[in-house]
Amino acid sequence: MLCPVRGNDLTPYATADYYLPGSPHVITNILCCQHCEALVRAIPPQQVHDHCSVASYTNLANEPLYRRQRDKYFIFLFNVFRKYFTKQGPRYLDFGCSYGHFMEVLRSRGWNVTGVEFVAPLREYCAAKGLVVFESLEALENAGEEEPFGLIALIDVLYHLSDPNPLMASLRKLLRDDGVLLIRVTNRYGLTRLLKRVFRRSHFRYQVLGDATVTYSKKTMDRLLANHGFTVVERRYWEGGKREEWKFTLFSLLTAPLCWITGGRVMLTPGLTVLAKKVRPQTGVASRERTASAGEGTSAREHP
Ligand SMILES: [Zn+2]
Repeated sequence: MLCPVRGNDLTPYATADYYLPGSPHVITNILCCQHCEALVRAIPPQQVHDHCSVASYTNLANEPLYRRQRDKYFIFLFNVFRKYFTKQGPRYLDFGCSYGHFMEVLRSRGWNVTGVEFVAPLREYCAAKGLVVFESLEALENAGEEEPFGLIALIDVLYHLSDPNPLMASLRKLLRDDGVLLIRVTNRYGLTRLLKRVFRRSHFRYQVLGDATVTYSKKTMDRLLANHGFTVVERRYWEGGKREEWKFTLFSLLTAPLCWITGGRVMLTPGLTVLAKKVRPQTGVASRERTASAGEGTSAREHP
């Protein structure tokens, strides 16, 4: 198995629980990339698809809960990137839009919103709210959606993908040259590495590694973006507005300053959010060799 970011061989790292329909405690192998720090779950894409189809965040019964937890967070997120847009009503693509909550936030502020969601009941739910949501990027392109988007978001999507490269290449084509790519991943990396290093943990329960297929560190994320001709313009560790259990809020409050003080080297925060722009708007996707070194030189503004 090869690293999806650099293409080199991976080494065995640990095992971890995974949830499949009817099998709540499947044991999966976790592999490690010595170059870009990615932790990769050895699992067929079909099993990831099966898992996501029954996960809590694709269950319509949980929609009110997620709305309550995230409605203010999405306003926080909107305020993070709005400074990059001077014109009213840019086009927004939400890849993996789930219940369409973030699309609604942007629509209410005058944005032209489009979604992609592979889970059929979620698409139907969005459609009932008047949101345009396609099953895939192919379906979007077949519908003649040719005007590029000003903002594309991948919120809790990227870490599910065994191979993120085809999607990243497609999104680069769909993004305007001056557009913004927003990626949010649940941060499973820091805690996993800490438990492994300090407590010699060789097996990780679901609560630690979650359902990540590829676990991203700051370095892994920078490398992937650089491979596809993006540079990070802003990086966020703190996530405002989330309404969660007190222990998660406390964990966020304690880990965000640590992350900020260490420049992201000790990244234990629940999430990592990056905003990226195209490096070379006119030259297309850069080669991996050429941009791997460029990834080292990104001068992102960092925030706690
Ligand atoms: Zn790698």
